[in-house]
Amino acid sequence: MNRVVNKNRIIGERIGNKPGPLMIVFAQIHGNEPAGYKAVGELFKAIDLEYLKNPNFEFCGRIVALQGNMKAAQAGVRYIKKDLNRSWLPKEIDRIRKTKAIESLDPEDQEIKENLDLIDTYIDLCQPPRVVVLDLHTTTAHGGLFTIPSQNPEARRIGLSMHAPVLHGFLDGLKGTTLHYFSQENFEVDINAVCFEAGQHQSEDSYKHAVSAIIQCFKSIDGFYAKDIEIKHDQLLEERSKGLPLEAKLVYVHRVEPSDHFRMTDTKIYNNFDPIAEGEILAYDKNGPIKSPYGGLILMPLYQKQGDDGFFIIQEITARSKEEEYKGSMASKLS
Ligand SMILES: [Zn+2]
Repeated sequence: MNRVVNKNRIIGERIGNKPGPLMIVFAQIHGNEPAGYKAVGELFKAIDLEYLKNPNFEFCGRIVALQGNMKAAQAGVRYIKKDLNRSWLPKEIDRIRKTKAIESLDPEDQEIKENLDLIDTYIDLCQPPRVVVLDLHTTTAHGGLFTIPSQNPEARRIGLSMHAPVLHGFLDGLKGTTLHYFSQENFEVDINAVCFEAGQHQSEDSYKHAVSAIIQCFKSIDGFYAKDIEIKHDQLLEERSKGLPLEAKLVYVHRVEPSDHFRMTDTKIYNNFDPIAEGEILAYDKNGPIKSPYGGLILMPLYQKQGDDGFFIIQEITARSKEEEYKGSMASKLS
């Protein structure tokens, strides 16, 4: 085997005292999204503190946090040559896996190789009953967090446990995301992937949302015990998702090419989940105004230079119930 094990990529890891799931948390698959990196640091601090505070604290399995795109993170950009979250294409990955000289690969392909080699090594080492990949992101737009699960009922269940709106249909409109790749087709172990969008890139709240989401995710796959988890994580995510759909589906993606000279309109700054009407002028490009082809809610309007997607339009499929109840005991809990 010809694996490249770059330990610098490992932001941290914690091992429970019983066998259990392996959760891989990706931070900075997009280099300009540092909230996930900060969140995993905070999570590991909280776990260490919990061992001191609570003699009965224990958990199952292993949490490993990886820095997705190290080169882009170093440079403070979304990516160096190509979007890492559009580059997990099975054919390409075959080629990347077979390449022995890592320096001969493009920057993002090197990132993929190192990430995969580490993940393969962890799977061999832990022989986990299951693997969940939680991919942490933030958006340029303000307003609202959300979760995108891979297309299966278990990933949806994990997504719902994080309380933010769960969005469906994104995988059809995109190719080569981590959600596409970390699926049953490509691995022999039971594997699921969920992407969590924690808020705006620079917002101080984003990393806090991500900490709570990681905890909820690991609890939902029987890593953490519910008795050890403070209710505040449910509450924070619930509270930030108030008024947003419980589940929604993608109805439209506006793709852009650099030569389009795409720019969002400046008469209004759109936030995630802002309602939009059919025919509303959302943006401009070289051909003039771009009108919304549907009514619904706007998501991820492009307010940065790098990116292939101008904006997304979603429509609610399940409304959020107003009487969400929080369940949990008052014992000492992971805070
Ligand atoms: Zn991202």
